[in-house]
Amino acid sequence: MHPVSKATVRRAVPTFGAGPGRTRLAYPDLENPKLAHGVVVFKEPTFGLDYREWVNRASLELETHLSLNPRSIAIPHQTHSARVIDVDTVPCGELDGDGVVTATPLTAIGISVSDCVPLFAVDLQEGVVGLAHCGWRGVAGGVVEELLGVLGAGGSDPARASFLIGAAIGPCCYEVGEDLLACFTAEEVRKFSRSMGRGVFFDLKGVVASRLVACGARPGKISIDMSCTSCKKYLLSSYRADGRDCGRMLAFLMLTE
Ligand SMILES: [Zn+2]
Repeated sequence: MHPVSKATVRRAVPTFGAGPGRTRLAYPDLENPKLAHGVVVFKEPTFGLDYREWVNRASLELETHLSLNPRSIAIPHQTHSARVIDVDTVPCGELDGDGVVTATPLTAIGISVSDCVPLFAVDLQEGVVGLAHCGWRGVAGGVVEELLGVLGAGGSDPARASFLIGAAIGPCCYEVGEDLLACFTAEEVRKFSRSMGRGVFFDLKGVVASRLVACGARPGKISIDMSCTSCKKYLLSSYRADGRDCGRMLAFLMLTE
């Protein structure tokens, strides 16, 4: 496992746009005419919605309020797995998985998070993009490696791609138990956990960055939003802080040409 130095990984600072109705985060690192991207914050409780209702609400947001005009939208039914879907090769309909990849312009892909890590992957030279919902179970199960594997099958080289690790719960607030730590390597536990008081706190964003580098990503092409969803629960969405009333954040990507 390669160490990830804070000196080599860039810090991503989001801009906040208050479009009609909802807050939207955008990252200057991902700004490009060939790409639409962002994170939309749904402050109203959405955990009671079934999968289809959530996809409808998220799709409405992308189509209407953000005026993306996608030809199709792929948002998976997330299961905290390591499954990543190339949405260009599967029939439309219900998708089960925690990562999505597309090389088709005007196909919008989305994943939802509220404390878990949204991972954006962009290779504009090859024309392929991907997103993964990185909760601890998914990361321990290999969702980062699987995302890079599916991107690679589409022609992307991890050394050329850019990665952005979005707003998620930070090591300031992510208190974890031995059961979680047992699912990670001893080196990851040593590097990315620390004891404070009577608890142990874990840096899941750091683990995601470290696993990207281990798969061949260049540290200089990885940026991390240090925002903690729990610390910023009034602006973002934190399941840890607010339980099922917390709302959700929709991370999305779309090739525009
Ligand atoms: Zn925090």
